[in-house]
Amino acid sequence: MRKLSIKLKITIWFTLFMIILAFTILACLILVSRNTSSSEIKNLLIHVVDSNSKEVEYDDGELDIDDDYVTSKNAVSSNIFDDKGVQIKGYIDYPEIINEPFIDGVLKTITIGDDNFFVYDRLISSEEGPDIWVRGFVQENSNIIMASVLYKVLFILFPLLIILASLGGYFITLHAFKPINKISQMAKEIEKSGDLSKRIELIHNKDEIYNLSVTFNNMFKQLERNFEAERNFTSDASHELRTPVTIILAQCEYAFENATNMDELYEAIGAIQKQGYRMSRLIESLLQFTRIEQNIETKDFQIVNLSQIVKGLLKDYKPLNIKNISIEENIDDDISINADISLITRLVQNLIQNAYRYGKESGYIQVSLNYKETVVILSVSDNGIGITEEELPNIWNRFYRVDKARSNGNGMGLGLSMVKQIAEIHNGKVEVESTIGEGSTFRVLFYKK
Ligand code: ADP
Repeated sequence: MRKLSIKLKITIWFTLFMIILAFTILACLILVSRNTSSSEIKNLLIHVVDSNSKEVEYDDGELDIDDDYVTSKNAVSSNIFDDKGVQIKGYIDYPEIINEPFIDGVLKTITIGDDNFFVYDRLISSEEGPDIWVRGFVQENSNIIMASVLYKVLFILFPLLIILASLGGYFITLHAFKPINKISQMAKEIEKSGDLSKRIELIHNKDEIYNLSVTFNNMFKQLERNFEAERNFTSDASHELRTPVTIILAQCEYAFENATNMDELYEAIGAIQKQGYRMSRLIESLLQFTRIEQNIETKDFQIVNLSQIVKGLLKDYKPLNIKNISIEENIDDDISINADISLITRLVQNLIQNAYRYGKESGYIQVSLNYKETVVILSVSDNGIGITEEELPNIWNRFYRVDKARSNGNGMGLGLSMVKQIAEIHNGKVEVESTIGEGSTFRVLFYKK
C-alpha cells in the first residue's frame, strides 16, 4: 500500500466504499421488500382478478373474453373456470389450486409443499348463460417482482455505477494532482539549476493547491532574498576588510623601504594599529551577527530588567563626558521583557553610541523607557546632525553609511542593521524620525509575545 500513488489510493478507497455502499443498499432493499411484498402481492392479485372479471361477459349467449384480459401479470396467473369447475382459459400446474372450492371475493392462502399460495376468485353471473369464475393465484414469496428488479440492479446497474464512479474518481484525482506534479517539477528544476528566481505557474481556481503554490513561491522569494543578502553581506564584508589590509600592507612597505628614523616608523605603526582596531571592530560585529542568527534558532531568552540595563549603560557613559553632551533620562522602573541579555544590551548600546557619534558638541541626548498599553517603548533622541528623508529608509541596511566623513571613519554601517535584527527577534519594531540639522529620534517598540 505504501508504494501506491495517492491517486491510486484514493481511487481504491473510493471503489471499495462504493461497493460496500452498493451492497448495504441492496441488503436493505431486499430486507424491506421481504416485509412489504406480501401485502403488495395480495393487492396485485385482487387487482388483476377484479379487472379481468370486467373483461369477461356473455354476448348473445356466447362467452366473450375481451382483448384486455391478462392471463399473467407480475407472477399473478389468471384463469377462467365454468360453473362445473372446468378450466376454460389459462393453465395451472397445481391440482390443489384447481380443486380448491370457489368463493367469490375471498382471498385464501393454500399451502402446497413448502410454499404458500394466495388464491382469489370472482364470480361472473349472467342471465345469458351459466356462471363463470375468474380465479387468480400467486406464490406468497414471489419477491420475484422485487427480486428480479433487484437482481437487475445488482448485476447490471451497480457494477456499471461502480466502474463509472471509480473511473470518474480516478480522472478527477489525476486532474487534481496535475498542479502538484508541476510544483515538484519546478522544485526539481530549481534544485538542478540553483535558480531561485523561478516561480510556480499559478492555476486559475483558488483552491488548496493554489494556496500551496503561493506559499512555495513566497518561500522561493524569501530564499532568493536571503541568498542575495548573504551574498551582498559576504562581498561587503570582504570589501570592508580589504581597505584596512591594503593600508596595513602599504604602511609596512613604506616603513621598510622609506622610513629613515624612529618618528616615521612610529607613524607607520600608529596607522597600522588604527587599521588593526578597525578590523577587530568589524570582526567583532560579524561575530555578533552570527550570534544573532544562531539565536534565532536557539531562542535562549529569559526575563530581563530592561530599565536596569538602560540605566546601567547611561551611568557608564556619563563620566566619559563625550563631546560635552548631557543626558536626560525618563526611565520607568522595573520594565522587564523576555530577551537575550547580551543582544538587548548591544541594541541599547548601539543607539546611545550613535546618538553620541552624530550628536552635536554640548548638545543633549534624551533616553526614555515606558509602557504604552502593552507595548514597551525605548526611545533615544539627540539634537545632532540628523538624516535626510531620502536616506532614512537605507540606514537599516548592512554596511550602509550616509556619509563616511560623518563618523570620522569610525562607523561601519552595521550598528543600526544590528539594532533592527535584534529588535525583530525580540518581537519588536524599529522607528526613526529625523530632521537634517536638528536631530533624530530612534524608537524600538517591543510587543508582548
Ligand atoms: P555607523 O556604524 O556608520 O554608525 P549605523 O548602522 O549605526 O552605522 O548607522 C547608519 C547610518 O545612519 C550612519 O552612517 C549615520 O550616518 C546614520 N545615523 C545613525 N544614527 C544616527 C543619528 N543618531 N543621527 C544622525 N545620523 C545617524
